[in-house]
Amino acid sequence: MRVKLVAGNWKMNGSLASTQALLKAIVPPLAAANRARFAVCPPYPHIAAAVQALRGSNVALGAQDLCQFDDGAYTGAVSGAMLAELGCRYVIVGHSERRAVFGESDDVVAQKHAQALKHGLTPILCIGETLAERESGSTEAVVARQLEAVAKRCGIAAIGQGVVAYEPVWAIGTGRTATPQQAQDVHAFVRGRVAAADKGVAQALTILYGGSVKGGNAAQLFAMPDVDGGLIGGASLVAEEFAAICRAAQDAKETVKAESS
Ligand code: PEP
Repeated sequence: MRVKLVAGNWKMNGSLASTQALLKAIVPPLAAANRARFAVCPPYPHIAAAVQALRGSNVALGAQDLCQFDDGAYTGAVSGAMLAELGCRYVIVGHSERRAVFGESDDVVAQKHAQALKHGLTPILCIGETLAERESGSTEAVVARQLEAVAKRCGIAAIGQGVVAYEPVWAIGTGRTATPQQAQDVHAFVRGRVAAADKGVAQALTILYGGSVKGGNAAQLFAMPDVDGGLIGGASLVAEEFAAICRAAQDAKETVKAESS
């Protein structure tokens, strides 16, 4: 049985005041929601405010990135130990914006995944193809390569200690959502790849969908058998939209997958 997870990725948006207002607005509507898991990932300078605002709530705290190294002369970087000390539970690794804008390779992403686990954080490993890659028929090859880079460095059990987020790059921030079937097809492929190495890990693995999820399309996406929730960008900055997406997760049927022999 997999419990749905909805995580908001606030990216580099907002002021301290607007982040505090957003935190204040998202916590109360989720107070009674106990059939799904929720998290938000504010920008680093707003994490301390989030620690206060989320204390005692059922919304967990995450960060958007971490350094692949332990500590030392890495100007501008933030370590896994620092995030853990602040009270972060999750950390996003390998977001397509980190890969494309900041040039992070599959191996750097794998190193970050390892760092997250080393410090007791749950990595949310983002994988996904560009539009050109989808159109040339290489979606599966791309997500397999991204996933296997982490499995190679960290081991298959480490994939299971984290969360995977399938985020087609063409759907991120574009308003163009993958259809529920497109998402399901890739999620089933990812689970199948993991199952080839370890069935138990595959069965328990939380695989989120990300890419223009909104209150209006979340329920259809979350109804797919291999879609275990969402990583939400733009819509997570709007309290009512985020609440609607979280409600869709709360109301979705828990996924019980028959053991495939
Ligand atoms: C994201 O950046 O992780 C994301 C899914 O963004 P959006 O929901 O805005 O497409």
